[in-house]
Amino acid sequence: MGIKPFLVASSIQAIMAQRLIRVLCKHCKAIDPNPDPKYLHLCGMTVEEARGRAHKNVGCDQCNNAGYRGRQAIFEMMLMNSEIREMAFNLAPIEQIRKAAIANGMRTLVQDGKIKILKGTTTPDEIARMAQVEGEAKK
Ligand SMILES: [Zn+2]
Repeated sequence: MGIKPFLVASSIQAIMAQRLIRVLCKHCKAIDPNPDPKYLHLCGMTVEEARGRAHKNVGCDQCNNAGYRGRQAIFEMMLMNSEIREMAFNLAPIEQIRKAAIANGMRTLVQDGKIKILKGTTTPDEIARMAQVEGEAKK
């Protein structure tokens, strides 16, 4: 979430970021008996959390053998408060503002993704891929 000068405008109440992720095909998705710990780590999950809940893409006639069918958005929403407004005004580093937003209760994109993994909506691979792209963008 890049902090731009418009952020300091007093009228802004919240800033939302969203990413589209692929949704598992409901006709062929299956519990993944061995989810990749490397991907789970990128999703902020442990193997224990994922066991019996994380799914994998398989592939069938309904999804052109992709194992995914359709897309869904995941979100993060940063609510403005006086602390964050002042940080933005003082051009504080983005990571510092993010930290304050998380302390203020913001659910991050990856945390929202984790919920989607636990619901069997998408795979750890898909969220890990997104998290990595986000990581690249920050460099
Ligand atoms: Zn399918």
